[in-house]
Amino acid sequence: MIRPRKIFGQHWLKSEKALAEIVEAANLKQDDRILEIGPGTGILTRRLLPLVESLVAVEIDRDLCENLAKGLGKRENFLLLQGDFLELDLPALLEGFPAFQNPNKVVANIPYNITGPIIEKLLGTIAHPNPKPYDAIVLLIQKEVAERLVAKPASKACGALTVRVQYLAECELISIVPAKAFYPPPKVDSAVVRLIPRNIEPAADDPRKLDTLVKLGFGAKRKMLRNNLQSMIERDRLTQLLEQLQINPQVRAEELSIEQWVALSNQLVVNS
Ligand code: SAH
Repeated sequence: MIRPRKIFGQHWLKSEKALAEIVEAANLKQDDRILEIGPGTGILTRRLLPLVESLVAVEIDRDLCENLAKGLGKRENFLLLQGDFLELDLPALLEGFPAFQNPNKVVANIPYNITGPIIEKLLGTIAHPNPKPYDAIVLLIQKEVAERLVAKPASKACGALTVRVQYLAECELISIVPAKAFYPPPKVDSAVVRLIPRNIEPAADDPRKLDTLVKLGFGAKRKMLRNNLQSMIERDRLTQLLEQLQINPQVRAEELSIEQWVALSNQLVVNS
């Protein structure tokens, strides 16, 4: 057993049940090309490899890479890249490896400390969505973050992350994975989530405006939307606009649905 390192957020998954849930959630097809972030000791990698066309894994820890190369290096459909997933330019690195280019699915038990940035790199942002979206992204993440991703409007977990991610992808909570499913157990429970990138309809006419609107709207917690948006639009005009959209003028950011955010953004004329 390789000793887990804290700095890289290493917790080895050991639960058969959780591994099976991740694999099932990915609906694997023989021609799938997988991207795995943080393969660790390769426990998930080993399950995935026989089921798919190819798998490229990105692992930051050199020692783990050496170990993975020893164990899985001979498999023809496996490619290992050593580096920081957040920093590396995947398409450029894959240029010399046609069989691994354009992975269509992401399947991974990721390091929890960089969950937000990983999701953003995979999906892009409202203003700049990933131009080549994945067919599906199945991740094992911290339960609290999973709950925020799938939150419904007005629920406690609903926040800016909810709106940013749900605008770009349909989010589904597949299963809860208890801390004891890992070695060493993390302090929190985990969950398997599946994100299916989508083009929401109707879309925002000006995605950058929506991006700013969401950022400002969630600015100060538990404040009414019209107070948080004062720098963007006068209170009275916003009140009028909200009434026109049949939204309670006293609404708070976390109570709006994605459709309402889009409608608001599309109706909003910003002084510039
Ligand atoms: N998937 C394995 C390991 C999960 S722990 C399992 O299920 O058991 C998270 C893994 O991500 C570790 O192997 C860690 O070294 C790796 N990791 C951490 N930060 C990373 C980064 N920025 N880029 C790529 N891999 C990273």
